[in-house]
Amino acid sequence: MSNIRILKPRKKIALIAHDHKKAELIDWVYYNRGVLSRHELFGTGTTGRLVEEAIDRPVTKLLSGPLGGDQQIGALVAEGLVDMIIFFWDPMASQPHDPDIKALLRLGVVWNIPMACNRATADFMLTSPLMNDEYESRLTDYSVYLARKV
Ligand code: PGA
Repeated sequence: MSNIRILKPRKKIALIAHDHKKAELIDWVYYNRGVLSRHELFGTGTTGRLVEEAIDRPVTKLLSGPLGGDQQIGALVAEGLVDMIIFFWDPMASQPHDPDIKALLRLGVVWNIPMACNRATADFMLTSPLMNDEYESRLTDYSVYLARKV
C-alpha cells in the first residue's frame, strides 16, 4: 500500500459553510475567484449553489449538509476524489448533524488533506505555492492496523 497521495496542481476543493458563516465564505470565494477558477469546486447543496451564483463557476453540488452532504464529502475524501476542504463551521451554534461534521473533520486528518476551518487559514492555504504544484501528501501507515488479528 502506497503511503503517498498525490494532489495534482488542479486541486479538488470542497467548500462548506454553516448558515451564519455563509456570507463570510461567499465573500472569501468572491475575493479569491481568480485563484479558485484554476481548481475544481465541490460543495454541500446550499453552499455550492451560493458559490455558483457568486462567481459563475460550476460547483459539483452534493446534498445539503444536514441531509448527508458532509458525509458525501467525507466519502470523496476517503476515495481520493476531494483534495482540500474549506469548511467555515459555526462555533456559536450547535448543528443537528454535529456527528457528521466531526466525522468529516476526522477523515480530513486520516487522509492528511489541507483543511481550513476559518478565513485566516483559508487565506494562508490558498496563497501557498503548493496550490500550483503537485503535492505528495504523506499518509499515516495503517498497514499494521489493517493486518491486525481479529
Ligand atoms: P449546506 O450545508 O451548504 O447545504 O447549507 C452545510 C452544512 O451544514 O454542512
